[in-house]
Amino acid sequence: MIRSYLESDLTAIDKIGSLIKDDFNKKYDILNLNHDYANIYVYLIDDVITGFIQYEEHYEVCDIINIAVSEEYQNKGIGKALIDYLINHTKCEKIMLEVRENNLKALNLYHKCNFKEINRRKKYYGNEDAIIMEREVAMDVYIMGIESSCDETSISIVKNGHEEIATTVLTQMDTHALYGGVVPEIASRMHTENITMVLEDVLSKTDLTMDDISAIAVTYAPGLLGSLLVGVEFAKVLSLVYDKPLIATHHIAGHIYANNLVKKMEFPLLALVVSGGHTELVLMEDDYKFKVLGTTLDDAVGECFDKVARVLDLPYPGGPNVEKYAKMGKPTYDLPKPMENDELNFSFSGLKSAVINLNHNELQRGNEIRKYDLACSFQTVAIDELIRKTKLAIEKYDIKRVIVAGGVSANGFLREEMEKLCKKMHVDLTIPPLKYCTDNATMIACAAYPQYLNHDFADLSLRAKSQEYFFEEHKS
Ligand code: AMP
Ligand code: MG
Repeated sequence: MIRSYLESDLTAIDKIGSLIKDDFNKKYDILNLNHDYANIYVYLIDDVITGFIQYEEHYEVCDIINIAVSEEYQNKGIGKALIDYLINHTKCEKIMLEVRENNLKALNLYHKCNFKEINRRKKYYGNEDAIIMEREVAMDVYIMGIESSCDETSISIVKNGHEEIATTVLTQMDTHALYGGVVPEIASRMHTENITMVLEDVLSKTDLTMDDISAIAVTYAPGLLGSLLVGVEFAKVLSLVYDKPLIATHHIAGHIYANNLVKKMEFPLLALVVSGGHTELVLMEDDYKFKVLGTTLDDAVGECFDKVARVLDLPYPGGPNVEKYAKMGKPTYDLPKPMENDELNFSFSGLKSAVINLNHNELQRGNEIRKYDLACSFQTVAIDELIRKTKLAIEKYDIKRVIVAGGVSANGFLREEMEKLCKKMHVDLTIPPLKYCTDNATMIACAAYPQYLNHDFADLSLRAKSQEYFFEEHKS
């Protein structure tokens, strides 16, 4: 925890300060901390002061006067946390400091915090120069996102959480299509073979270098474990080698935050999250604050699209091919409407079973299945249900803004119907462009931005997880 100092902290501050200067006590006496331009922030662990930063604010410039961390707590990121705290709290436009040229440890910390040398006072400390450093307070944040949860290897750089700088997506779809679905062993092997080339490629699209990157974000869950592991371990190595914070981002957060690429999300809003593992109506009250209004009681809608594709013997990838077939058919098969009630929960297993049974029975009878019509009948019922429940939620919670997120938001019929609904109800609708609906690292870098601002950083013990229900972790 970091806070402004109290009078009762001064003895502890003095003790830590004497590590960096013999005359420390005199120094802060002279500064007269009663002036409102001077202050000290202290870093506490279990109520013990482990470090402090002393600064003065004069008009547009904030001067760091002293920064020190007690010996047993050094190399734990406390110095950086104190500087970051000052950056986030000062009203000044720039921060300046002075450091001895041989104080490599301090110089390293200041470089890490993006301070740049602007001047030198020659031989200021006897034989040593004093280096004057400065940084602007408001600096752009460039997050490098990494996504490898399934069969796309992707790396992207996004500025300030919404501006795409460069992205590379390398899909393995053609390879897996040969097997009729994603083969996990092949997927992870291909990620391993390709990920360094993807990094090289994305960097070649911009003038930025790894030095300009503020943090490395990676999808850690959910997905194929072997695939996720490649991204996670690669991100750890980049974070270690380039000394950048590591951010663990959930794939579903990525799909949600892809909407910031269209326009900055304003809260509160209603999110319809439709993917291979999720079917939810969620009230989003702030960044990473979610209230689940309705969820699926059995299968996720994307999972049903995939299952129906398999039953109809459609080629991989399932969901998009069901849509393709549906476009060429008519909804002539009579399928049961799921959950005819006014609750906001979903259930798709009955619809899925109906398709399986219908297909089976027709084959038994020696009848040919009209695949286009069955795909269209299924899609119509499934999407109608998503639209009906979204309408109920808009009415019940007096919603003014809706976003759609997840792989199923690529579905053209869903997009059209959602636009009609929101237009009719005078609700503002955002759906990410198609290229951000399929898996990509741009959305991961977007989702990592609020985490970055919140200092929600992971360490090298980060583990990939094949399953993790996102909303449980972020209840509002
Ligand atoms: P996600 O789990 O968010 O990565 O999204 C993947 C899911 O979206 C899979 O279940 C896909 O079948 C599904 N999906 C992708 N494109 C479409 C589409 N055009 N129509 C329906 N489902 C789709
Ligand atoms: Mg996805």
